Amino acid sequence: MIPRDQHNLSRKQISRGALKVLYTLKDAGFRGCLVGGAVRDLLLGRKPKDFDVATDATPEEVRKLFRNCRLIGRRFRLAHVIFGPEIVEVATFRGTGDGEDSEDHHVVDGRIVRDNVWGTIEEDAVRRDFRVNALYYDIADFSVLDFVGGIEDLERKELRLIGDPVTRYHEDPVRMLRAARLAAKLGFTIDPAAAAPFRDCGALLAEAPPARLFDECQKMFLAGYGLASFRKLLECGLLRQLFPGAVRALANDASGALRTLMEQGFAGTDARVAEGRPVTPAFLFAVLLWGEVEPLARQLHAEGVPPSLAWQRAGHRVMADAGKRVSIPHRFGYAIEEIWALQPRFAERTRKRVFRLLAHPRFRAAYDFLLLRAGESDAVRGSGEWWTRAQTLAPEELSALLAPRTAAKPGDTTDAKPAGTRRRHRRGGGRRKKAAATPETPE
Ligand code: ATP
Ligand code: MG
Repeated sequence: MIPRDQHNLSRKQISRGALKVLYTLKDAGFRGCLVGGAVRDLLLGRKPKDFDVATDATPEEVRKLFRNCRLIGRRFRLAHVIFGPEIVEVATFRGTGDGEDSEDHHVVDGRIVRDNVWGTIEEDAVRRDFRVNALYYDIADFSVLDFVGGIEDLERKELRLIGDPVTRYHEDPVRMLRAARLAAKLGFTIDPAAAAPFRDCGALLAEAPPARLFDECQKMFLAGYGLASFRKLLECGLLRQLFPGAVRALANDASGALRTLMEQGFAGTDARVAEGRPVTPAFLFAVLLWGEVEPLARQLHAEGVPPSLAWQRAGHRVMADAGKRVSIPHRFGYAIEEIWALQPRFAERTRKRVFRLLAHPRFRAAYDFLLLRAGESDAVRGSGEWWTRAQTLAPEELSALLAPRTAAKPGDTTDAKPAGTRRRHRRGGGRRKKAAATPETPE
């Protein structure tokens, strides 16, 4: 136990909602502790992403205390207490449920599929993943409780699993990804004993639910430390469990252009997160899977498939394949395929096609992607520069740039072009919906 005067975690750093939950539990005679990532991050002087509370009150008892509360989860029952945009997750202390197989604790092939046996705070600590994630801040006396050596690891900047790593990974293979993610996020090392089983246990991730892997990908790649996560996953040999095709493509990347594209894609997303701008998973998945889709589209084209169809088919195949491991929701899947399918269209510079592409709802994402590809060849870089300039021009200027050289008499040009441009614009706009539904009409 670390008393209040020996740690730096102060109530001022705790969100209003979390404090309210802690005090309400305490006033009702229950135990209320902040736990997990929030305690870890506050002790490290970082701003927590969210605040989790652990208590000896059951979910039903928690619900009775708060009007703004709903119970969620079957596998893992929890209470969510809602304060406007803030959600405080309140979990009842869990026991280990060792050896027990019942309605409330269910294990299949070593995997925990249901975990609703209540227990003591000490038991709750040991079933958490890393020692640094098992620290509690007790609202009763403002002390920090460390049952497993978490403080020591915080000081060493090391992630150590609680218990035997192989057993813990069999219980839940996603813990391997969490190790890589937290090492990336916090700049910690992974204890060699926790990292050694990645080689043999990595394949267990194939059995993890694809929807959960997508959630984990979002946490890894879209929370501001995507580049570090990507590098860590590669280094740990875990990326191939999620995106085997991407890792194969990186192995064939003699020029290093693909690696550069990926790193810049992640770095750009991290920069956007840092600036508080919105980010979409679609762009990053387009980046991650590019090394697969591009050669496949080329191959299909070489076999005689027309370009636009080749891109559509390649995109479709790659997405279907990726979905077996990580299930990417359809709304993102469509966007990803469109970003890819628009790439060959940047090479088409007729006036009609240029204006159509500029008006395409996915133009911006596809253009950002084109810029990432600059390292592929001088032609691609040149294309990126051309489209960058095209966007700075007024429609009339752009139209003039694209006008056939035969547009002879100055009088004709000034009269005819703006009118032509207006007409094209209207047409481009009118086709928007159609273009989105049927990505590309064949040449
Ligand atoms: P972040 O700051 O990125 O949210 P976190 O450690 O808080 O990291 P959460 O997913 O919010 O991650 O989980 C909260 C806490 O729940 C963890 O700190 C850990 O104690 C526990 N936990 C989460 N996932 C697992 C797991 N798979 N196995 C065991 N304990 C887990
Ligand atoms: Mg958290």
